[in-house]
Amino acid sequence: QLALELKRKIEELSKKIKAKFGEEKKIKIMNFCGTHEWSIVRYGIRALMPKNVELIAGPGCPVCVTPSYYIEEAIKLALEGYKIYTYGDTYRLMAVKNISGVKSLSEVKSLGGDVQVVTSILDASKYANSDSKESIFLGIGFETVAPGYAIAISSNLIPKKMSIMSLLKLTPPAMLYTIKGLTEEEKSVFGIIAPGHVSSVIGANSWKFLSNDYNIPTVISGFEPIDILVSIMEILKQIVRKRAETVIEYKRAVNWEGNKFAKNLINEVFYPSDDAWRGIGILPKSGLRIREKFEDYDSFKKLGIREIDPLNWKDEKLPGCRCSEVIIGKIKPIECPLFMKKCTPENPYGPCMVSMEGTCYIWARFGTIE
Ligand code: SF4
Repeated sequence: QLALELKRKIEELSKKIKAKFGEEKKIKIMNFCGTHEWSIVRYGIRALMPKNVELIAGPGCPVCVTPSYYIEEAIKLALEGYKIYTYGDTYRLMAVKNISGVKSLSEVKSLGGDVQVVTSILDASKYANSDSKESIFLGIGFETVAPGYAIAISSNLIPKKMSIMSLLKLTPPAMLYTIKGLTEEEKSVFGIIAPGHVSSVIGANSWKFLSNDYNIPTVISGFEPIDILVSIMEILKQIVRKRAETVIEYKRAVNWEGNKFAKNLINEVFYPSDDAWRGIGILPKSGLRIREKFEDYDSFKKLGIREIDPLNWKDEKLPGCRCSEVIIGKIKPIECPLFMKKCTPENPYGPCMVSMEGTCYIWARFGTIE
């Protein structure tokens, strides 16, 4: 009943927008987060939208935006005899380059390499404690996992023979990247569903620049289908009013300041650095690297692994894969000729098909009703 009522209100608002902006004008609402995309596809929310409201997926999948270079480095380390701890999705992520005949950590494992899938940094630390090998934890993720890494590092919960390759990324710079190319006209009918879990750490204030500086309605949303419908309705209301604001819909988890304890911890252990995003490029101050004080835990320092040089980095892509366009909402997964042919959830070819937060994976897994 609630969903039907929201659907009715969304239709009403879409009619008002049509009257203001014309029949043909499309309202685009981007959800940053892979988990929002999951709910949208899983619950068929796109199918409930009026014709002039388009929901588009954004770059909210940390595995999808991790440059191939770092996977290639991890493969090299595993082939040299180091132990690699990784999440299950990164384990299957395909590198662009072939390293000694190997293109993923799962292939290294099948050749006898020491690669272990874990669910958290503490999990990895527990295994590393009872292993004599030098090991590396591939620290991929957004602000949601950063406090966990920070507390493990600052509380000395990590064994001396394990280090972390911090590939953590910050979400606001990527959001800024996705809207910067929009014209004023496009911005007038654009809205953003901002990530709920990330915002529970960084706070809703982090997104105010979208409404204040770029005039884009922004709602920090929860992940239930009703949350998402409410957020869409709020964005449409703001478009009708022609006044953009940042609103917290996910009040049960998010406040304006965020989690001060978690933010202080992140700041104590990490510093923001310019970082490379696969499919996007170099974004200023968009990554987190380990501070000098904790460099014994930093794989880059400890093992002398070279980081990407922002001035000379070439973002290499897998031939035919259009993930770089999928992650900024330029195309839908079904527009990639490899979707569900060469690239499937069982045998992922491109990065957007590997993770549960990848748009191609979600569309493949739950159908593609538009
Ligand atoms: Fe890349 Fe596969 Fe998505 Fe195509 S379907 S864009 S190959 S991840």
